[in-house]
Amino acid sequence: MPGEIVSTKMLSCSYREGRVLEDISFLVERGDYVGIVGPNGSGKSTLVKALLGLITVNSGSASLFGSRLSDFRDWHKIGYLPQSLHLVNPVFPATVHETVGLGLLSRKKFPKRLNKSDHTKINITLEELAILELERKMIGELSGGQLQRVLLARAIVNDPELLVLDEPTAALDPETRDRFYGMIAEINRSRGVTVLLVTHDSGAIGEHASKMLYLDKKILFYGSFDEFCCSPEMSSLFGEHSQHLMCHRH
Ligand code: ADP
Ligand code: MG
Repeated sequence: MPGEIVSTKMLSCSYREGRVLEDISFLVERGDYVGIVGPNGSGKSTLVKALLGLITVNSGSASLFGSRLSDFRDWHKIGYLPQSLHLVNPVFPATVHETVGLGLLSRKKFPKRLNKSDHTKINITLEELAILELERKMIGELSGGQLQRVLLARAIVNDPELLVLDEPTAALDPETRDRFYGMIAEINRSRGVTVLLVTHDSGAIGEHASKMLYLDKKILFYGSFDEFCCSPEMSSLFGEHSQHLMCHRH
């Protein structure tokens, strides 16, 4: 299907301790903004890593942009912001500008060097996320919210068609979090970038995303927020009150 960005069929994943994802089947179409929610340990990060080929799928299948995962090569089409900020070494001696520049290298053949238009692109992206004034700072000097925006800049500087964000707002205060969600929504709307955003913040995602995937090892719900809100199964799972708080529409 031409508008198919992510598709899985009966996908299952296990760690040594046992199975953490079971029979996951869903389809993400171009322009969707999917909020992936669920309790801690429900498999959200595992799902995202499986889709990105970072961990092995035990059974079932997944495809990206219409290619089977094992045949997919266009990784530059995907921007990824992983969950663990501690993967970012705060004493790594890099400026904000250099860190965002790393996002451009994946598309390049050897020699991997940035040219003038790359530097312009980095600055445009920094400006878009309102952090151009941080350009010359070392990443170790940044606050949590600033670092998140720098990593978002690195994930989008390459003009990805799919943006995958794993709990990007966990370290942010509520105001910065709202602003961050707003930026993602804008990237989705104005550039038509497809977004998969993982969060345990099921209350906030309804304000921004177009679809929700509720995961707890299996998919308990996948669809629009209108469908979510009208679903009797979801009423019995969450209670009507929480269901409406999550929906943000009615
Ligand atoms: P979530 O992102 O929804 O919090 P995860 O996908 O991180 O959930 O984890 C799902 C389950 O898999 C949890 O029980 C977690 O303890 C386990 N798990 C996650 N990563 C690993 C790993 N690398 N090795 C073994 N078990 C893991
Ligand atoms: Mg996680």
